[in-house]
Amino acid sequence: MANLIDGRAIAEKVYVDLRREIAKLKSQGVTPGLAVVLVGDNPASRAYVRSKDKMSRELGLHSVKLELPAATTQAELLARVEELNRDPAIHGILVQSPPPKQIDEAAIVRALDPRKDVDGFHPENVAKLVSAAADGFVPCTPLGIQRLLIESKIDISGAHVVILGRSMIVGKPLALLLMQKGKGGDATVTVVHSRSRNLEKITRSADILIAAIGRANFVKSGHVRDGAVIVDVGINRVEDATSERGYRLAGDVAFDEVAKKAAAITPVPGGVGPMTIAMLMSNTVKACRQLL
Ligand code: NAP
Repeated sequence: MANLIDGRAIAEKVYVDLRREIAKLKSQGVTPGLAVVLVGDNPASRAYVRSKDKMSRELGLHSVKLELPAATTQAELLARVEELNRDPAIHGILVQSPPPKQIDEAAIVRALDPRKDVDGFHPENVAKLVSAAADGFVPCTPLGIQRLLIESKIDISGAHVVILGRSMIVGKPLALLLMQKGKGGDATVTVVHSRSRNLEKITRSADILIAAIGRANFVKSGHVRDGAVIVDVGINRVEDATSERGYRLAGDVAFDEVAKKAAAITPVPGGVGPMTIAMLMSNTVKACRQLL
């Protein structure tokens, strides 16, 4: 049976270091500030924004939660982003995805001050990830996955990492991050997606298999070789009449059967999710430090 990679425990370790750094910044008269902007009332987005705001407060950050109506126009949202760009008490800005249809998300991301883009989606930060510039911001989920692997003493260097999914949020930046030269990198990376041929053959050759496709229980034991490390990024709602909410959360990996073959595996929930929030906090503190 696989070892469980405990994302909550590793996130706690990150917070111990962050608390120390935040105390130091406060002693210099600066409190790192994070603004999270939510447009509309998508329930999943609302829950994400709530937990980001809660964590910021717990760490003693200056936390601003901006909730805008679903009918907010592009111009109104841009004006709010500009205000936050200019606000010296705010070091990190995040506009929760997905926004309502009338909003051009890419244009909003481009309007962010890249020095405050703690989600790492601004083109300038994407370029910095490609060129491995240390002052850029890496998207929180890939950064959290890399940290999970490092803290779990899983050898990334020289390993064959297969990533299922090529989104701008997870798959693509993760591939760039793990193939970088040096600590936490040096992997041989393969990215597979919905058009890939021989998907099972490729995933079975992975030393580390990372699933980020948004399909509940897609990865079965046949996709995995004995002794592989499995990271499950998926967060999927599956109908469940026995649950009070009427659904439960499932990952992209059929946990029970895959855990029998794997050397280590992340659970859902309690794996990648807590690390994503921890990296958002870490990026905010980094932004504050760099803006001093
Ligand atoms: P996304 O934008 O929908 O991208 C999904 C990717 O998976 C696409 O590249 C798609 O291929 C590929 N794919 C879909 N079905 C496939 C199949 N049957 N075979 C092979 N590839 C397939 O999703 P995302 O935003 O990256 O999110 C992925 C999952 O991670 C979701 O469950 C999401 O909720 C979760 N997530 C979790 C966190 C966290 O903090 N834990 C953060 C972000 C996302 P094509 O490109 O060919 O369409």
